[in-house]
Order: sequence, then structure tokens, then C-alpha cells
Amino acid sequence: MTLPAFSLRAATEADHAFLLDLRKITMTAYLAEAGEPMDDAQHWARLLDHYEAAQVICVEGESAGLLKAYIKHKSDDPEFADAASVPAVSWYVSQLQIAPAFQRRGLGERALRTVLQAAQADGLPVMLSVLHNNPAKRLYDRLGFTVIERTERSYRMILNTPSTDTPRVVESWHAHIYFDASSRDAAWALRERIDAHFGDTLVLGRFHERPVGPHPMWSYQLAFGREQFAGIVEWLTLNHGALDVFLHPNTGDALSDHRDAAVWIGRSHTLRLAALGG
Ligand code: ZN
Repeated sequence: MTLPAFSLRAATEADHAFLLDLRKITMTAYLAEAGEPMDDAQHWARLLDHYEAAQVICVEGESAGLLKAYIKHKSDDPEFADAASVPAVSWYVSQLQIAPAFQRRGLGERALRTVLQAAQADGLPVMLSVLHNNPAKRLYDRLGFTVIERTERSYRMILNTPSTDTPRVVESWHAHIYFDASSRDAAWALRERIDAHFGDTLVLGRFHERPVGPHPMWSYQLAFGREQFAGIVEWLTLNHGALDVFLHPNTGDALSDHRDAAVWIGRSHTLRLAALGG
């Protein structure tokens, strides 16, 4: 059997009508059976979600299906945020639909393999959700996906792409403001300005008037998310005065985060890495 000419192209507005029809034809029965009836407005919302990642599957130049996949950060999705089994970052196959006339030709698998290749190149796992009653699950099983969670209506599945070096992912940042007895008052004044300026967008730690953990000087900590990084670090570069600031990401490897990923504003200091097993 020779494979039909297969290609992917970015979806445009001109594809809206085709994609809405495709969605209704391929999904309505499963959604209804799963107790998730959808009206046109809901179909549209799902269709337009991450539309920039939508690719039309073409066969011999004819539109035959939809593949929508993108890199997803767990922290961006409230539905994923509490799921311990979901990795911090993954390639996410959000939609894969093949028009009935083009089914059973291996198009879904070929489209999916383009995602697996991208994920392998990035060293990331691939995630997807599939309704319990959707026969596409057989394809996912065959490609090596495993179920990590069964929700009321769907399976959440993952394929861990083999990779020798798992990329580290920054979950959050710390900035530690360093001071000593002579700069204590300046450190406290800066802390009050930080509190007034940033409020709830960061978490202020305790004001330690002694060295703690790997920190060789007195210090207090600012903890903040990746989204706050630019605003907070920019502000600190312009407002730290004579105080030194040690910044590090939190990736789950404390020793490496402090030893290999350190960022300094002002002067650098030698950390007491023994406190982290270094
Ligand atoms: Zn820290």
C-alpha cells in the first residue's frame, strides 16, 4: 500500500467552516454519549482555542483533518495545576480529528508522529486527553501512551519520550537580599519598599539576622513566579542600592539551582553549599 501524499499547513480563517463541520462530524457522537452535549458556541470556543497552533491535515491538497498541538505549561492550566501526575511542561495534543472520508488510512498516526518528533527534539513528554468511548484511544495505546489519570469522562494519557537529558524546568524564583549588622537598616527599608511596591505578587520571607542555609550573610527571601521575573528583577537592579542580591531558579534540584544557576545583582558571594549537600 502506498501512503497518500500527506502534509500539514497552518489553519487560517478560511478553514473555519471546514473545521467546524469536521468537529461536529467527528466529535458530537462521542461527546453526546459521554454526556457532554455541545452547542455551536461551545464548538466554536474549542475550535478557536489555541487556533494559532491549529494545522490542517491535507491529503493530495484536500483538507482531511485537524491537528492542534502545542507546548503546555502545567501552571497555565487550572485543570492541570492540581494533578500530581502531570509534568510541569509537555507537548499537548489538544485536538486530532480526521474527516470520515479519510479515516482508516493512518492519517491520525502520521499527524501524531510529527508531534512525537517535535517532543523528542525538545526532550519533552507528550500529553493528551481522550474521551472513554473514543476509539482513537487504541491508536494512543499502540503508540505507547499510558493512562496517568482517569477522570469522569476521559483518560489523561502520556508518552514519555526517551531522552538522555531531561530538561530542567523553572517552577519559580527566589531573590535573597543580603545584609549584615551595618546594612541592616538599609535592608529593612528596602524590604518595606518592596512590600509597598509589589504587595501580593511576591511572598516576603523572614528577616534573618543571622546566616541561614547556604546564605553566607544575613538575608531575607522574595519568592515569585516566572511571570513576575522581569518586573521584579528590573526593579531590583535599579533599587538594590548598596545591598547585594542573590537570585536563583527553583527547578527541584536545590544544589544545582544555587551552585550552577546563580544570578547576582551587585557583588557575588561564596555560598555555603555544604548546607545543600554540595
Ligand atoms: Zn532560595
